[in-house]
Amino acid sequence: MTKYDVLIVGAGCAGLTAAIYAARAGRRVAVFEGMGIGGQIATSPLVENYPGLASVSGMEFSNSLLEQAMGFGAELIPTMVSRLRAEGDLRILETDEGEFAAPAVILATGTHHRPLGVAGEEEMVGRGVSYCATCDGAFFRGKTVAVVGGGSAALVSAGMLADLCEKVYLIHRRTEFRGEAALADRLRSRENVEMVLGETVAELVKSGAVLGGVTLASGRSLTLDGLFVAVGQQPDNAAFADAVELDERGYIRAGEDCRTSMPGVWAAGDCRTKAVRQLTTAAADGTTAALAACGV
Ligand code: NAP
Repeated sequence: MTKYDVLIVGAGCAGLTAAIYAARAGRRVAVFEGMGIGGQIATSPLVENYPGLASVSGMEFSNSLLEQAMGFGAELIPTMVSRLRAEGDLRILETDEGEFAAPAVILATGTHHRPLGVAGEEEMVGRGVSYCATCDGAFFRGKTVAVVGGGSAALVSAGMLADLCEKVYLIHRRTEFRGEAALADRLRSRENVEMVLGETVAELVKSGAVLGGVTLASGRSLTLDGLFVAVGQQPDNAAFADAVELDERGYIRAGEDCRTSMPGVWAAGDCRTKAVRQLTTAAADGTTAALAACGV
């Protein structure tokens, strides 16, 4: 079993901020990430609301956070964590790369995209259905696409796609946007963006093996090359369910002090119960959890 001072699960904004603080406090730190580095923000086309950074791509932001954390000595272990358990004063993470132990663990697992929930969605992923405009937008250059959702992620994605595509529909189930007003205002001035409000996607229409369009609940049909789903996020904390208390939606129960129901385990960022899930609040949690884990 490999021993560290602090184990951090998740290399998003919360996890990497925690890594920076713990490594700078002189602790031996390992960060576990089984998916993409940077978490949710890495797939965001543009970040414009992080204090001090006027405009940066999500990928640039994530890469720079990782570099900063590694620069202070944190180690990245690219593997999924399958379980957390306690043995005396040690907290142990079980992974495909073996077991890792430390007196302190910070869970910063973030959230993952929520599916739209229409028939055939899963089989059309990679055949016209995508959850990431940053990753897949370039495949739809000069084409017609739709974005579904009314949060900031949908608004940012629609803006990015409007730069690439001939036409972008923004389909939202209400007439008011949940996302930032400034982003919605900017979209309204784009000539190739059509807002389709008070509508939901009833059916995906195939064209051979790929997406050909959608039918909306009103019966209106849209011919599309791509459909970008941005209907929010959900936590995935099943691996820790027998160690820490989760709420009914699967978020780790923890307050502003990031303490979970298991002593020696903290939860930071979007994966914990909280009112505001933003980069800034993830960074704040990473700081709080790391200082507590280091006993500072
Ligand atoms: P979100 O804010 O939860 O918005 C999800 C959107 O999807 C809502 O508009 C919701 O509609 C809609 N929706 C949910 N389920 C749906 C369904 N089954 N069918 C159709 N529509 C559905 O999620 P998000 O946009 O992913 O953002 C997550 C967090 O990250 C938020 O805190 C957000 O502020 C933050 N974020 C910020 C930025 C930024 O640049 N500031 C960028 C990305 C994300 P209703 O509105 O009707 O509920």
